[in-house]
Amino acid sequence: MRVAVVGGGPAGLMAAEILSASGASVTVYEKMATPGRKLLMAGRGGLNLTHSEPIEPFLARYGAAAGWMRAILDGFPPSALIAWAESLGQPTFVGSSGRVFPKALKASPLLRGWLARLERQGVELRLRHDWRGWNAAGDLVFRIGDREAVVPRPDATILALGGASWPKLGSTGEWAEVLARHGIALNRFRPANCGFRIGWSENFRERFAGSPLKPATFSFGGRAIRGEAMITAYGIEGGAIYALSAALRDAIEASGHAVLTIDLAPDLAADRLAAKLDRPSRGQSLSTFLRKAANLSPVAINLLREAQGAALARSSSALAAQIKAVPLRLEGTQAIERAISTAGGIDLAAVDAGLRLRAMADVHVAGEMLDWEAPTGGYLLQATLATGVAAARAVLLR
Ligand SMILES: Cc1cc2nc3c(=O)[nH]c(=O)nc-3n(C[C@H](O)[C@H](O)[C@H](O)COP(=O)(O)OP(=O)(O)OC[C@H]3O[C@@H](n4cnc5c(N)ncnc54)[C@H](O)[C@@H]3O)c2cc1C
Repeated sequence: MRVAVVGGGPAGLMAAEILSASGASVTVYEKMATPGRKLLMAGRGGLNLTHSEPIEPFLARYGAAAGWMRAILDGFPPSALIAWAESLGQPTFVGSSGRVFPKALKASPLLRGWLARLERQGVELRLRHDWRGWNAAGDLVFRIGDREAVVPRPDATILALGGASWPKLGSTGEWAEVLARHGIALNRFRPANCGFRIGWSENFRERFAGSPLKPATFSFGGRAIRGEAMITAYGIEGGAIYALSAALRDAIEASGHAVLTIDLAPDLAADRLAAKLDRPSRGQSLSTFLRKAANLSPVAINLLREAQGAALARSSSALAAQIKAVPLRLEGTQAIERAISTAGGIDLAAVDAGLRLRAMADVHVAGEMLDWEAPTGGYLLQATLATGVAAARAVLLR
């Protein structure tokens, strides 16, 4: 059986591995000069492969797609992912938050071992092949530099072209136009795990862009996340923000803005904080007083002022309440180009259980092209790799 895998990210490479291990003749077509660029980028801050939590809360991370994802993860659960990484010489460990990382932390040794395995299994890798769609005969059409190449219709094709974030790494989402022309149901791309725009004052932006904000608890829509964020020139980003980003993004789309609430003193109950603030300031500036009495960092103090305006309360209990509930108005999402992942893409109803496009007999899809989303924490790569496995196994069953 001759199979074309289009897209050399983790979903495509996993599909190629499963297919070639079962004797299929597999060619991976990748438009960039090297495969797995986003995977390498993911490894920069520590490659979070999956998560160690039990499967029910794990599945719940996929929100509306949780039910759909169950069968996919049954076929390639977190334990299988960990065993796979170890088989590539990448033992893993569980971090303090339950996240699973390779001991090497980076993605490059894993990718190197993976590409070597694929080569041993006979997978051919064709780089700088930019897939443009199909011709009338159903052959695959590629652009290679300024020429066009046609690959005769394979027995099966797996498209694994990624989402639409970080286009400079290859994932441009241009494939959506091609699939739309073939009548495939698509949902609009939206940034996921992204930062948010805030209209900082010039002074605050200049002084604090690049400053981490911690410890703090960030709340929105009934969820509170204890964690860390980063003040940026455009607004705010970071792990705790990403965890709330789907709900924040949806609220902004519905009403033009969202108000994130930040507790700048998460380790102190309001009454204990009020008691600490209930002492004479002895001529200290408000900043010095808040730093000494409430242990607030300069960025926290200025954020409090930025968000509450000049109206900082005089009574200690009211001031404590302000510190524990700083309202931050978010005006929009960060551009999708810089988001960690993408929501939207191929509607899950457009594929069957083997991730075959219902409208196209011999084309399966995998990875971030499909319309599921999840927070950071290893859920992205877990689903990406599991969909690659599911699509490949379905092709082998044909
Ligand atoms: C900064 C950052 C950090 C991240 N950290 C983590 C993490 O720690 N843990 C985690 O789980 N996830 C993380 N992710 C997300 C993870 O990297 C993605 O979910 C994953 O790479 C998606 O895999 P994919 O194979 O579906 O798509 P991609 O990795 O985007 O691969 C798609 C491939 O298809 C190619 N392609 C696109 N169009 C064409 C075309 N027309 N012709 C040929 N080839 C084409 C692209 O060049 C690309 O190589 C991170 C992402 C970013 C940006």
